[in-house]
Amino acid sequence: MTERFEAGTYDVIVIGAGHAGCEAALAAARMGQRTLILSINLDSIAMMPCNPSIGGTGKGHLVKEVDALGGEMGLNIDKAFIQSRMLNTAKGPAVHSLRAQADKNLYHIEMKKTLENEPNLDVKQGEVVEIIAKDNVVKGIALRAGSIYYSKAVILATGTYLGGKIFIGQSSFQSGPNGLAPSLELSDSLKKLGIKLTRFKTGTPARIDMKTLDFDQMEEQPGDEVIVPFSFMNDELYREQISCWLTYTNGETHRIINENLNRSAMYSGQIEGTGPRYCPSIEDKIVRFADKNRHQLFIEPEGLNTKEMYVQGMSTSLPEDVQIAFLSTIPGLQRVKIMRPAYAIEYDCIDPTELNLSLEFKGIENLFSAGQFNGSSGYEEAAAQGLMAGINSVLKIQGEEPFILDRSQGYIGVLIDDLVTKGTNEPYRMMTSRAEYRLVLRQDNADLRLTEKGYKIGLVKEDRYRKYIDRKSQIDIEMERLKTTSVKPNEINDFLEKNGSSQIKSSISLYDLLKRPELDYHMLKEIDTTRAQDIKRDVASQCNVQIKYEGYITKQLKQIDQFKKLESKKLYQDIEYSKIEGLRIEARQKLDEIKPLSVGQASRISGVSPADISVLLVFLEQQRRKRGEENE
Ligand SMILES: Cc1cc2nc3c(=O)[nH]c(=O)nc-3n(C[C@H](O)[C@H](O)[C@H](O)COP(=O)(O)OP(=O)(O)OC[C@H]3O[C@@H](n4cnc5c(N)ncnc54)[C@H](O)[C@@H]3O)c2cc1C
Repeated sequence: MTERFEAGTYDVIVIGAGHAGCEAALAAARMGQRTLILSINLDSIAMMPCNPSIGGTGKGHLVKEVDALGGEMGLNIDKAFIQSRMLNTAKGPAVHSLRAQADKNLYHIEMKKTLENEPNLDVKQGEVVEIIAKDNVVKGIALRAGSIYYSKAVILATGTYLGGKIFIGQSSFQSGPNGLAPSLELSDSLKKLGIKLTRFKTGTPARIDMKTLDFDQMEEQPGDEVIVPFSFMNDELYREQISCWLTYTNGETHRIINENLNRSAMYSGQIEGTGPRYCPSIEDKIVRFADKNRHQLFIEPEGLNTKEMYVQGMSTSLPEDVQIAFLSTIPGLQRVKIMRPAYAIEYDCIDPTELNLSLEFKGIENLFSAGQFNGSSGYEEAAAQGLMAGINSVLKIQGEEPFILDRSQGYIGVLIDDLVTKGTNEPYRMMTSRAEYRLVLRQDNADLRLTEKGYKIGLVKEDRYRKYIDRKSQIDIEMERLKTTSVKPNEINDFLEKNGSSQIKSSISLYDLLKRPELDYHMLKEIDTTRAQDIKRDVASQCNVQIKYEGYITKQLKQIDQFKKLESKKLYQDIEYSKIEGLRIEARQKLDEIKPLSVGQASRISGVSPADISVLLVFLEQQRRKRGEENE
């Protein structure tokens, strides 16, 4: 029996120093709380157990929003990136998504340095084995080695470690990711507190030795010439970039995998946990898309000082001999050597509908949860939840209203609302298609949407706030200049003809010119004589987007007004839905379970129909009248 002793008291304790835990702890410490962050192994702080990149479609948006609110991920990847690309530039600005390849080791080193240098924050190695709570209020935690720490709030950010079990073919063993120790006791403590746990799984591809690859047989994928920083705190970034490489599977690859499906942990039924549909294993892809004669894969460097290369698109739980066999069929990998075999990991996580929109457990006061443990998948999704859990643990301690972003304010709002209102039966990954108001929620305007809010809650500091105000005013000034600067026919008709744009008969503002799809801000430089020479690239592109998509943006803002109408119809937490006549049984059960904060949130609960919402609106009106009569 471990001897226990009281080791200290904090305001906030964060269990886990992954992408969620780091953001949560930094937010709490930066909002003035004495904070402790714990990890089973400090050498795994901000570890990237899977893809060596930050961002991508929908995920880049989350990183920008975390940054705009005063979080760390954007700043950290700007320090540790080795390649940067803006994805989907052929499509509209709503889906433009930044993605940066990271030097994983440098990413870890920079984040650890930031944690260690943060005032109010203590960083400690230790495994939490118990959550201490009294009368459903959290009081602290106990470590395996015996120390007990008390605190006003605790945040769970344990990722894929709880009950971690690794699968490589028929071989399986208890472990955390990357050979790190799992967390095997905390789950029991959570179950004793009445928290329901479920099993999810995810998988990662092999890491292969760069020395054994032939890049002449692959297509080089270089970074962008112009690097767009992730953080709004950085204007321009210059760095020598490393390339990724594109190659493809072929019929022989598919034959080997098909012939060995029964040896895959996933296909032999060994794994109970549910996996991510949008990060399928190569087995899944070959079975589900059997008609495809090849699948693309990217060979991505894991860092500047390592020969390890990540095989993006080839996660698997097939045995290692099969991994070597199918990888060797791929152009450029014929002599491949595996440095780390691919594996699948199964782990405990919660049903996120047990959480409020503030990420606090409904049943345990001051206990919050964030990241993969909430059923999401991805560094960016974890960071966004960690930030919000950190902020809300502080606001709860201070007796303030929780900080909640709705679906029209950010991808963070979409992420958390989807998780806690709808739940998820597989690891949830963010995508632009999940955000109904994505034209307004672009990554390029995250600061214009969120930095003011971050400043009001005390997380955004003066330097970031000043930078935001400065950028906002530069955009406003330039928009005004474009509106009020007119050009005459004789000044621009040659220019218009040259650029295949119809000539004008009377003066026109630069603003109206920019609405023409064939013209853009950079092209107008030729005829725009009053333009400031040093206008910033991001200010210019912001004006370009706002003007060109003005019509669509206005239309979407109207939709948001409609959305906000139902969001503003608040629902008291003490409503007994089981007693509301006219509501269907399923709706009564679901509403009593989720306890939505608004009619809008109620309308997104699966099993609650539009008819149920009408009943609810009538009930609310009756309640309002009754209260009115009582007050008379
Ligand atoms: C094998 C694998 C494959 C993946 N594949 C994908 C993918 O394809 N796509 C994708 O988007 N994401 C993928 N991910 C997910 C991605 O890694 C996670 O989403 C992300 O790391 C989650 O961040 P987190 O902060 O929630 O948890 P993690 O980064 O897992 O960090 C958890 C932290 O909690 C600590 N911890 C756990 N238990 C305890 C305890 N009892 N006491 C103290 N500390 C504790 C750990 O030490 C660690 O610091 C994969 C992850 C793994 C492991």
